[in-house]
Amino acid sequence: MINFQYARATDVADAIRQIAADPVARFIAGGTNLVDLMKYDVEKPLRLIDISRLPLKTVDETANGGVRIGALVPNTDVAYHPLIEKRYPLVSSAILAGASQQLRNMASTGGNLLQRTRCFYFYDVATPCNKREPGSGCSAINGINRINAILGTSEACVATHPSDMCVALAALDATVHVAGPAGTRTIAFADFHRLPGDTPERDTNLRPDELVTAVELPAQGFAANHSYLKIRDRLSYAFALVSVAAGLELEGGRIKQARLALGGVAHKPWRNPDVEASLQGKAPDRQAFAQAADLLLRDARALAHNGFKIDLARRAIIRTLTQAANGTPQIQSSKKIR
Ligand SMILES: Cc1cc2nc3c(=O)[nH]c(=O)nc-3n(C[C@H](O)[C@H](O)[C@H](O)COP(=O)(O)OP(=O)(O)OC[C@H]3O[C@@H](n4cnc5c(N)ncnc54)[C@H](O)[C@@H]3O)c2cc1C
Ligand code: SF4
Repeated sequence: MINFQYARATDVADAIRQIAADPVARFIAGGTNLVDLMKYDVEKPLRLIDISRLPLKTVDETANGGVRIGALVPNTDVAYHPLIEKRYPLVSSAILAGASQQLRNMASTGGNLLQRTRCFYFYDVATPCNKREPGSGCSAINGINRINAILGTSEACVATHPSDMCVALAALDATVHVAGPAGTRTIAFADFHRLPGDTPERDTNLRPDELVTAVELPAQGFAANHSYLKIRDRLSYAFALVSVAAGLELEGGRIKQARLALGGVAHKPWRNPDVEASLQGKAPDRQAFAQAADLLLRDARALAHNGFKIDLARRAIIRTLTQAANGTPQIQSSKKIR
């Protein structure tokens, strides 16, 4: 491991001052991803700015009926917060489907958004990887690509975004609050993560000198009719091969509003508002859900080893929407033993 300097930020303004003075430094929150990456020599920051004690640790109701989650609220505290459990159970379920209890205790809301891909080659510095070393090539495209993307890929990168929580946040139309030297701004969740294009080294539209301060959820939480389904190789402690976050608003036996996002299939949580609009006014049945699945996966392309994901995603979408429509959400294992 390389030598690095360590400094603790005293408040948000101090954190921004420190990163502006040294844009190649890195913020560290829970450290559950960044420290691993440093151990693997994937990330080599010469300076860490510890933001873990900043006062961004509350979950508050907003004036417009939504909820604002501070960037340093641990994943566990978000998942079990009474407001989130009651009004946004989709977020609780998605968080509890990820990692382990110990990791969720350390992992922060902001860090979860900014965790990096789990592509095998990204972690293996002996192999070319455009995301780790721009211009070096992509080892996954013709390599072991069972876990890689089927949607939104480019010739430069076929990585997926690994977060579970982000799939739920995408479906719920969350907003990300950030602060930087130029002031504060908000980023719609759909615009926060990027597709790889020819700059796969950039995962998000956050600028290097900006700090995520909060995530805001709008009032509609789809609490009555939602489900998060995660398909993975093991029942716990594994990343999604495919995951689905679904929310439905039903009225008079018809779908008034639908939300549908996929994880494990693209460089960002995958959502298509046209597909959601196509469900409006329809009866919540298998035929409508199958049509939505086909539409959402219309542009899916398989690599040599991940063709199974296309059919898996189709079946997972139909099942998750059915669970949401029936008000019988997938129960995550860690919720059962609580
Ligand atoms: C074994 C293992 C299994 C896991 N399984 C899952 C899983 O199944 N599903 C899942 O979703 N996740 C999983 N995770 C990932 C875990 O959720 C993330 O590592 C965690 O959410 C990252 O949060 P952190 O606070 O520890 O981030 P850190 O490691 O501290 O930081 C991660 C990145 O975010 C940046 N950063 C952190 N906070 C901010 C901020 N406020 N503003 C700007 N930049 C910031 C850091 O600079 C760094 O680049 C797993 C992790 C491990 C180690
Ligand atoms: S898919 Fe992306 S992260 Fe994986 S090897 Fe290719 S460039 Fe690197």
